[in-house]
Amino acid sequence: MGRGTIEKLGAIQQGELSATENVQQALDRIKKLDKKIKAFIELNPNALAEAEAVDCKLKRGEHMGKLAGLTIGIKSNINVKGLRATCASRTLENYVSPYDAEVIRRVRDAGGIIVGMNNMDEFACGSSGETSSFGPTDNPVAPGHIPGGSSSGSAAAIAAGMCDICLGTDTGGAIRNPASHCGVVGIRPTQGLVPAHGLIELAVSFDQIGPLAPDVYGAALMLETIAGHNPKECTSLDSPSVNYSDKLGIGIENIRVGTSSKFSELTDSAVMGVIDGAVEKLHDLGAEVVEVELPNLEKSLSAYYVIMFAEFFSATRKFDGRKYGRRIEEVCGDEVLRRITCGDYISRKDQHDRHYKRALQVRTLMRREFGEALNKVDVIVGPTVPKLPHQLGTKLSPAEMYAYDYLTSPINLAGICAGTVKAGEASGIPVGLQVQGKVLGEETVLRVMRALEAVK
Ligand code: GLN
Repeated sequence: MGRGTIEKLGAIQQGELSATENVQQALDRIKKLDKKIKAFIELNPNALAEAEAVDCKLKRGEHMGKLAGLTIGIKSNINVKGLRATCASRTLENYVSPYDAEVIRRVRDAGGIIVGMNNMDEFACGSSGETSSFGPTDNPVAPGHIPGGSSSGSAAAIAAGMCDICLGTDTGGAIRNPASHCGVVGIRPTQGLVPAHGLIELAVSFDQIGPLAPDVYGAALMLETIAGHNPKECTSLDSPSVNYSDKLGIGIENIRVGTSSKFSELTDSAVMGVIDGAVEKLHDLGAEVVEVELPNLEKSLSAYYVIMFAEFFSATRKFDGRKYGRRIEEVCGDEVLRRITCGDYISRKDQHDRHYKRALQVRTLMRREFGEALNKVDVIVGPTVPKLPHQLGTKLSPAEMYAYDYLTSPINLAGICAGTVKAGEASGIPVGLQVQGKVLGEETVLRVMRALEAVK
């Protein structure tokens, strides 16, 4: 994976590596590897020119942002002016963004150089990266297996060393799941911490933009760049800004770490073995490990799907062919169509109490259960994904595919934060530990993730 984020930034700041060289190296690597991996849908034709502008500023000794000279990949459901936000769908195949999303504005202000738009599951509907209309992404560290999804290209780009940091989105696990399968770091921030302006939504009440990076420092750096209030969004949290990357060295001696027997009930033993080993390491580092109760955890999955179907159905009504070219039902893939059909059905007046209302009750339950558990501990740790990634092209039923989200979707229902960091490998495939935190508990989550990363 090459050098870490701190070393890379240091080399750029010392003038040992120019931003232009860094971008050129990323483009060379993409050219060499991406025909097979398919992590990118489109490259930024101005990336080198933008890097030269950063180099000029660096030479003049101007004050530079936190990401100065780093190469950034963006999931294709985030608007980047002049590039296509296709959502990996034929529906938006020709949609060129006329504006920058708020997070993109912040990335550019910090000196980050966008190298291109990452591949993904169509409209972020999936857990495998296989539903993209641009073809499936391969897993660079477990070739022939799915990289996970829906931020498939973002995780694969990091794992293959094609860029320094990526932005993905997480509605039911789409940052943490591919981070786990590709052995990289990913954070799903607290609902509302990162502005959603400019994100093409899957399910607006669950969506969050967040970072994927090769190490915890890179993820922390990106998170502090994009987090923070956007007064133009009524759902944006007005929380104090935190320099997460400064807090990573602090040990975890006083941290209380929760585990739950529920996780092992829902998880394959090969995955659980790796996770148990990671919990042991946290204990050895001085954390106090405590059992917590999450009695209804498994109910979250169906509630997530019901609410997401309803919100996604509503979100897709604008793709009626008048403004963006194509009517979604006419050109989308099977999974997107399934969700539109289910969402249409669930949203009918006579169905409301049967599905949607009950799903909202489970959402309240999840909030309460995680809230109560997190009153007793600082973080809860467990597996990210209950099973190892399947081989590309294996036929899975929708229910089997949805089962990948058993352990990630509860966090989206509860509206809290969680990150994934590599815990080890099973059969040569990475397994990520999920560290789940309180509302705005990112600082502690990142510290625990860093502690585990440092002992590897
Ligand atoms: N796998 C989940 C789904 O298919 C979550 C995807 C996401 O977070 N975008 O909906």
